[in-house]
Amino acid sequence: MEKLIAVANQKGGVGKTTTAVNLAAAIAGRGHRVLLVDIDPQGNATSGLGVRVDEEDPTTYEVLLEAVGVERALRSTEITGLDVMPADPRLAGAEIELVDLPRREGRLAAATQTLDGAYDYVFIDSPPSLGLLTLNALTAARSVLVPIQCEYYALEGLGRLLETVDRVRESLNPSLEVEGILLTMYDSRLNLSLQVAEEARHYFGDRVYKTMIPRNVRLGEAPSFGRPVTLYDPHCIGAASYFGLAEEMIGHD
Ligand code: ATP
Ligand code: MG
Repeated sequence: MEKLIAVANQKGGVGKTTTAVNLAAAIAGRGHRVLLVDIDPQGNATSGLGVRVDEEDPTTYEVLLEAVGVERALRSTEITGLDVMPADPRLAGAEIELVDLPRREGRLAAATQTLDGAYDYVFIDSPPSLGLLTLNALTAARSVLVPIQCEYYALEGLGRLLETVDRVRESLNPSLEVEGILLTMYDSRLNLSLQVAEEARHYFGDRVYKTMIPRNVRLGEAPSFGRPVTLYDPHCIGAASYFGLAEEMIGHD
């Protein structure tokens, strides 16, 4: 059975896309078949994997509106074993267009069910909101991975996210679990990073991954080359930390 993991946090810029792209690439590098679904109109996961979307290309938007089947929207990437369902700014319209449609939160779930075991891992990169797009991600997923940035107010808003997860579990997706909390942009020289890590472990215990993602410029540079860091600079500390996270995740399965 494939693992379906939504990467979500309504707070912006916490490392959702960086995690989705690089963890997906690291797991594909271990020989697994991986799909990354981009359900963010910013399309950062799409461009970060070097995939260009032209106007006539089917994307997550067409899949959610049931204008095309999933397989029409899938694109291969430079990484063996890693495909992407791309997104572009058109997807912003779905947030409004879906409101009056039936099964509006269950569209991605229905679509991913038709994948029929083609992938071992499916990651979904969510936008920084708790709107219909994120609800589709949480309804399709078996679990949610929450990146939190080791910064001021890191845990602020986390309560609302976990309440949303509970609400989705009660109404739309009874088997949804919290996969894990990931500390990102960690800087061991900063007291603040240490404090955030300590506080997260205090509240969430062993749901916090042992692997922490350090602040690393290579992670910031890689997307402008349309490559995951595991390809852009496989020996940097950022790549090593995502390979470590992949090991930790595969080890739990
Ligand atoms: P959004 O909410 O807008 O979708 P996000 O949560 O997906 O944002 P990212 O896009 O992954 O966040 O990261 C925000 C910025 O921080 C990006 O410029 C990214 O390259 C950079 N970044 C992410 N993680 C790291 C890291 N560990 N070290 C250095 N830079 C990082
Ligand atoms: Mg993002």
